[in-house]
Amino acid sequence: MIAALTFDLDDTLWDTPPVIRRAEEVTHAWLARQWPAVAQRFDVAGLAALRRQVAEEDPARAHDFTLMRFRTYRRAAEAAGYPPEAVARGAFAVFYRERNRVELFPDVLPVLEPLARRLPLAAVSNGNADIHAIGLGHVFRHALSAREVGRPKPDPLIWTEACRRLGVAPRAAVHVGDHPEHDVAGARAAGLRTVWLNRSGGRWPGAERPDAEIPDLTALPEVLARWGLARPAAGPEPSPFPSRG
Ligand SMILES: [Mg+2]
Repeated sequence: MIAALTFDLDDTLWDTPPVIRRAEEVTHAWLARQWPAVAQRFDVAGLAALRRQVAEEDPARAHDFTLMRFRTYRRAAEAAGYPPEAVARGAFAVFYRERNRVELFPDVLPVLEPLARRLPLAAVSNGNADIHAIGLGHVFRHALSAREVGRPKPDPLIWTEACRRLGVAPRAAVHVGDHPEHDVAGARAAGLRTVWLNRSGGRWPGAERPDAEIPDLTALPEVLARWGLARPAAGPEPSPFPSRG
């Protein structure tokens, strides 16, 4: 019986690369206006290269994308002779606002909203998207990030913690995600059932296959029905204010 669901965010619920590309361009244009010497020293690709370098210097925290971006903007500001904190705070605020302006895949709300009325859902992401800013706060009971739990997927820790907050055993939970290793292998290692969301129609690249493979989310309810959904727990109505967990 399935009693809870966890979902990946980036590239599972929206197409991420164009979002990040646009966010980096908008941030660069902001820098060019506010702190021009940074933008002159580093073009968009230059800031991306600096961010990779910053991440390589601290592999233990490279999964904390927010921290890595702050360090990148600080470093670029120092190189240009500007106050690092002011530049980093301003640039990250611009980046983060744009990063959370995403276009959901059309199957997301029609599938997740009815599921969320039956079962608790949690978002588990290596990225730093904000489900509330994106307009998904009403479908997820909890949102967990690699930054918050301290280790990135495929480490099973994020699912262990998600299941604890959802109040279910891992074997009663299903994870849905696009990435064969980060999502399928990781969630399996944590003891969850796995659904590989294969939107591009690629071949399964890994060894051990997911428990199910779907081309889009509209196929998910049928998979869950096959496995059996737990009856909604009796009890108080769920709060209309989802926890920011
Ligand atoms: Mg993903």
